[in-house]
Amino acid sequence: MKKKPKYKRILLKLSGEAMKGKREYGIDPKFISYLASEIAEARKLGVQIAIVTGGGNIFRGVAGSKAGLDEATAHYMGMLATIFNAMALQDALERKGLVVRLQTAIEMKQISEMFIRKRAIRHMEKGRVVVLGGGTGLPFITTDTTAAMRGLELGCDAIFKGTKVDGVYSDDPEKNPRAKKYDSVPFKEAFQNEKINVIDKAAIELCMRNNLRIVVFNIYKKGALKKALLGEKVGTAIR
Ligand code: UDP
Repeated sequence: MKKKPKYKRILLKLSGEAMKGKREYGIDPKFISYLASEIAEARKLGVQIAIVTGGGNIFRGVAGSKAGLDEATAHYMGMLATIFNAMALQDALERKGLVVRLQTAIEMKQISEMFIRKRAIRHMEKGRVVVLGGGTGLPFITTDTTAAMRGLELGCDAIFKGTKVDGVYSDDPEKNPRAKKYDSVPFKEAFQNEKINVIDKAAIELCMRNNLRIVVFNIYKKGALKKALLGEKVGTAIR
């Protein structure tokens, strides 16, 4: 018998990191095509999906400001970077045969709809994947926080954060080989522990206050998203 997914609707957060594949910078269409096939597999389970794209592979507000740009301007540039990624992802998803609606928090009439909460929900109910670009449209915020906000307002059952690590560790696994991976971490611990920074604290705080589960998993592992949606032990649940 076909296994039923554990989640009805999810918010998938894909960092800029995931868009660059193995490149140093920018977009790797081949890797984005792989991401799209992972998402297509998840859709086959019937799970409704909204995706928030990051922009760190192109531009981050904080880095721009450190380099001498006005900080608010730099954040708006970062938001535009997330729209680059959202467009590339939309294209890749459509090539896999999915119906996609791109919504942005900054008006871009020629390429996207404005983000409208109820419309986004309706798209998902009709089986369309909703890609959300432009963050919140407000400076000084990250796309992790955007993911938490959108996850809440779109009535998602969980936030799935796809990263290059397998989950939440006791320390940075790239620096400390003895770092231990957790299967699950309570919200409070994830919020207070300074070593846990795989997702930003504002996002954790929002999810904690509203009891919205976060699943951190390795998007580079083929099939991981599908497994996680089926309730198998994948990555780390912050709950
Ligand atoms: N950003 C913003 N407001 C938002 C979302 C994003 O100002 O609501 C800017 C911010 O400067 C951020 C950049 O967009 O650095 C790219 O997003 P982020 O760093 O979260 O991308 P990721 O780390 O996921 O690749």
